[in-house]
Amino acid sequence: MKDFSYLRAASVDAALQAAALPGAMLLAGGTTLIDLAKCGVTEPETLVDITHLKGLNSIEVGERGATIGALARMGHVADHGDIKSRFPAVSEALWQAASAQIRNMATIGGNLMQRTRCPYFRDPANFPACNKREPGSGCSAIGGVTRGHAVLGTSNACIAMYPGDLAVALVAFDAVVHLGLRQVPVDDFFLLPGTTPNREHAIEPGEMITAIEIPGSASARRSTYLKIRDRQSYEFAAASAAVGVEFEADGRTIRDLRVALGGVATKPWRARAAEDALKGKVLEPDAVRAASLLAVEGAVDHGANHYKIELAPRVVARAILKLGETA
Ligand SMILES: Cc1cc2nc3c(=O)[nH]c(=O)nc-3n(C[C@H](O)[C@H](O)[C@H](O)COP(=O)(O)OP(=O)(O)OC[C@H]3O[C@@H](n4cnc5c(N)ncnc54)[C@H](O)[C@@H]3O)c2cc1C
Ligand code: SF4
Repeated sequence: MKDFSYLRAASVDAALQAAALPGAMLLAGGTTLIDLAKCGVTEPETLVDITHLKGLNSIEVGERGATIGALARMGHVADHGDIKSRFPAVSEALWQAASAQIRNMATIGGNLMQRTRCPYFRDPANFPACNKREPGSGCSAIGGVTRGHAVLGTSNACIAMYPGDLAVALVAFDAVVHLGLRQVPVDDFFLLPGTTPNREHAIEPGEMITAIEIPGSASARRSTYLKIRDRQSYEFAAASAAVGVEFEADGRTIRDLRVALGGVATKPWRARAAEDALKGKVLEPDAVRAASLLAVEGAVDHGANHYKIELAPRVVARAILKLGETA
């Protein structure tokens, strides 16, 4: 691991100034930054410690929605009573992420900024070709072992899967990322790889996430997060879905539907075609299964990850039907 300087920021302004220095990186829970530094993927010149900054760990929930500070811990947000009742998909996504120990350390801001788990990306010693790590060097995954790679949003430069859970629920419910002076819809915060897979987030040097805001809605209140993975705990998604539904007064006709996918795309993936196909329709299993297939429209596999194209629609359908049962 390369030597670095350590700087404890005295205020948000001081942190922002320090974050603008060349080679500076913010340190929150450290649960992913430190392991990336140890394996030589990240080589910060300066670590700007923001863990103790005041006012950034609050969780405020009201009629209009929730505002969650960037330093709120994943475990605290998952367990917050109003998040559980008004945004069940957000709470469930967090509960199914990582382990209890990590959730107690890791922050919401750090979670949004986590990087891909592509094994080639994380092993520079053995796989020097990685466009995300080293632009223009190639992609070791294409033609390699691809079981965990993306089938949606890929490019010729990179097929790495976005691994997080929380952001999938945030994308479904139109959350907004606060970056101090400006705000960015979470769907725009995550970038497609295109020809620049090294750039994953719409955040500039000298900016930091200060909070996320999730608008309240009936579909967020009746929502769930379903995560399918190789083992039932401490594992990233093979495919996941954040789904929310609002019914008309008859309790069967869908007024609003939100669907986002995790584990299958290069960023948290909003499935609007599936949503549109069911809005105004009665929730009924055959219609739900047919619409769920639209969630993977345009998917392209790289061999071993083909199963995701079949798995993801089933996850979506199961999540929607589960919400129908509780209507
Ligand atoms: C074994 C393991 C399993 C995991 N499983 C899952 C899983 O199933 N699902 C899941 O979603 N996640 C999973 N994770 C990822 C985990 O959730 C992240 O490690 C954690 O959320 C990162 O938060 P942190 O506060 O520790 O961030 P740090 O490690 O401190 O920072 C991560 C990155 O975010 C940047 N950063 C931190 N805070 C800010 C901010 N406020 N503004 C701008 N940039 C910032 C840092 O500079 C760094 O680049 C797993 C991690 C591990 C190690
Ligand atoms: S898929 Fe992306 S992250 Fe993985 S090796 Fe290829 S360029 Fe690197």
